[in-house]
Amino acid sequence: MGEPALQLSPAEEEAADQAAKTLRLIQGGGEAAASGEEAVVAAEAAEAGWAAEVVEAAAIVAAPLAFLAVLLWPSSVARDEDYLKKPISASNDPNTKAVPQPSSPAQPCPDAAAKEKEKDEEPCPVCIRGLNPVPGYRPPYLYAVPPRCPKDYETIPPLNLYKRTNKIVHGARVYEAPNGNFYHVDTFHKGSASEVEEYDRRGRHLGAICPNCGTPIPGSQVPGRRLPD
Ligand SMILES: [Zn+2]
Repeated sequence: MGEPALQLSPAEEEAADQAAKTLRLIQGGGEAAASGEEAVVAAEAAEAGWAAEVVEAAAIVAAPLAFLAVLLWPSSVARDEDYLKKPISASNDPNTKAVPQPSSPAQPCPDAAAKEKEKDEEPCPVCIRGLNPVPGYRPPYLYAVPPRCPKDYETIPPLNLYKRTNKIVHGARVYEAPNGNFYHVDTFHKGSASEVEEYDRRGRHLGAICPNCGTPIPGSQVPGRRLPD
C-alpha cells in the first residue's frame, strides 16, 4: 500500500496550510510580545525559516489527518489490486479441512424421529401389554392411596357412556355397549391390576380387559361364568 500521509485531498491540504499559518502567527506574536528587539529578531528568523517551518507544521497536522482519512475511508484501502485478488477466506474452500464440511444433505435428526415414534407407541401404564391410547396420560386409580379400582368414568372408553343396566356385580354397575356386549369394573382388582369384565350379548363371560387400553388379559376367561340375570 502507498504512503497514506501523502494522499491528501485538496481540502485537507488547504486545512493543513491554514493550520500551519495560524501556528506560525501564534508563535511569532508570542515572541513579539516578549520584547520589541527580540520580536524583530524573531520576525527575521521566522522570515528566514519560513519554508522549513511551514513544511514542519504541515507534517505535524497532516499526519493525524491522513490517519483519520484512512480510518474513515476504507474504500481507499480496497483499491489495492492485490487485496482485491485475494480469496475472501481460505476457510470457504471445500478442499480446506480447517472447517468441517457436511458429508450429506441436511436430514431430520434421527433421535427426534425416534422420540416422536416412541411417544406415539407409549406402553399402557396399567397393563404394560398394549399401547397407551392417550400418550402421556396416567389414570388416577394407578396412584390412589389406598389402592382402588377405576370409577366407571375413568376407563377408556368411559363405561358410563354405554347403556346403563340395572345389574350390579360385586358393587359395580353393568353397562351395555353398542355392540351388545356387557361390561363392568372388577371390584376385586385395584391399581395397576385393575380389570374390566367383558360378557357377550348373551351374558357369557369373555374374560377381563385392561380398563385403560382394552387389551385382553390372558387366562382371565372363566368357562361357564355368566352375567347374573
Ligand atoms: Zn392396558
